[in-house]
Amino acid sequence: MKQLRTPIVSVLGHVDHGKTTLLDKIRRTRVTAKEAGGITQHIGATEIPIDLIKQICKDIWNVKVTIPGLLFIDTPGHKAFTNLRRRGGALADLAILIVDVNEGFKPQTEEAVSILRTFKTPFVVAANKIDRIPGWQSSEYAPFLKSWAQQDDFTKQKLENKIYELIGDLYRFGFSADRFDRIKDFTRTVAIVPISAITGEGIPELLMILVGLAQKYLEENLRLQVEGKAKGTILEVKEEKGLGITCDVILYDGTLKVGDTIAIAGKDDVIVTHVKGILKPRPAKEMRVESKFQSVKSVTAAAGVKLVAPNLEGVLAGSEFEAVESEEDIKNFRERVKKEYEEISIQTDEEGVVLKTDTLGSLEALINELKEIEIPIKKAEVGDVDKRDVVEASANRDELNRVILAFNVKLLPGVEEEAAKYGVRIFKEDIIYTLLDKVKQWREEEKLARE
Ligand code: GDP
Repeated sequence: MKQLRTPIVSVLGHVDHGKTTLLDKIRRTRVTAKEAGGITQHIGATEIPIDLIKQICKDIWNVKVTIPGLLFIDTPGHKAFTNLRRRGGALADLAILIVDVNEGFKPQTEEAVSILRTFKTPFVVAANKIDRIPGWQSSEYAPFLKSWAQQDDFTKQKLENKIYELIGDLYRFGFSADRFDRIKDFTRTVAIVPISAITGEGIPELLMILVGLAQKYLEENLRLQVEGKAKGTILEVKEEKGLGITCDVILYDGTLKVGDTIAIAGKDDVIVTHVKGILKPRPAKEMRVESKFQSVKSVTAAAGVKLVAPNLEGVLAGSEFEAVESEEDIKNFRERVKKEYEEISIQTDEEGVVLKTDTLGSLEALINELKEIEIPIKKAEVGDVDKRDVVEASANRDELNRVILAFNVKLLPGVEEEAAKYGVRIFKEDIIYTLLDKVKQWREEEKLARE
């Protein structure tokens, strides 16, 4: 059997529902057993090796293991999810949707669910903050089942009611919930794990289900097979003292070596450069040493590293890169990136709304969502709204389509005046779900008014 790489996990959810606390809790996990090995700190990510996960889950472990561990991307949130691209979709292989069980679904939860549905990313719902349920008796780091056994019936009932509410909310978005071992299609059915990111209750089950999910679902989809050629996604571009402009990246396929030539999808064109250095964080016990980083000669997916290379000025966070060996490779990469953009963006002469978004990821997500609610699209592309967009929207015969949807982009000077003149409506929002909701509502009102 082929060696599988570490799955990349992203945490999504509404603000304050506990994304950061959960990642911190996982990062601080210490297990006494020496053989388990510790957590590996990456640049922009944290890896929990499978032996450590086994230790954390020891009372409940029932999985046959094929993956080396789980790599959690340190930046939580749906923005990170839609902006970090890899070939044909989102960078993360799977996700945790975190919901404060006492509050239930909120706008960003709804947005996150829409995004997960669009990208067909399998996920687990973490019903967080169970320790806040009145009467709940917490126990540090216990499996949820152990914690559950010590609650009184009244408290159990309260949690059950909250979980039923969550199931109802998921159902509104086309998801059903079931017991993990009965789930066949993880892009339609989800498991819900009650947890507390503060006490750690339920985290063993959460990790175990993530491992099971990766192995059952991602393995089948060949998503975890390493092909060989180094491929990755840029997390962040930043100036580092003494190093110049560097890129924090997640390598999701292959092995990258110092000296390799890489092509990066830049803002206007592909950037070609040579890897001068690959840096990893220095282990904590060596922190006395001047630099935060240590140099390595090569790195194998999945991993988070910092790349030192010339010509990184034009690189955008979220772009993908690939190791290239010849002019032919560069040409192929350039064509593929262009094709992907063309495949995602839309330009027609048909009736339909105009859509402008900030990134390719959000464009892809919104196009899919609009299709789902049967709103036709005339034009969809990345960029600010300009006067041309107004002209195109105004060319629609049906007033319902004389609309511009602006997601997380600016209206350039003169656009608003032009829109008023031509009777074009502009909806400008920075939450996908809110944008869709407003447009849908407006269209329905207009239709009613016509009858
Ligand atoms: P984020 O915005 O989703 O990253 O949310 P944070 O992780 O920053 O959490 C928001 C607040 O909720 C913080 O004050 C946390 O301490 C608190 N919090 C997060 N998880 C839990 C939990 O499981 N139980 C309790 N009682 N508080 C929590």
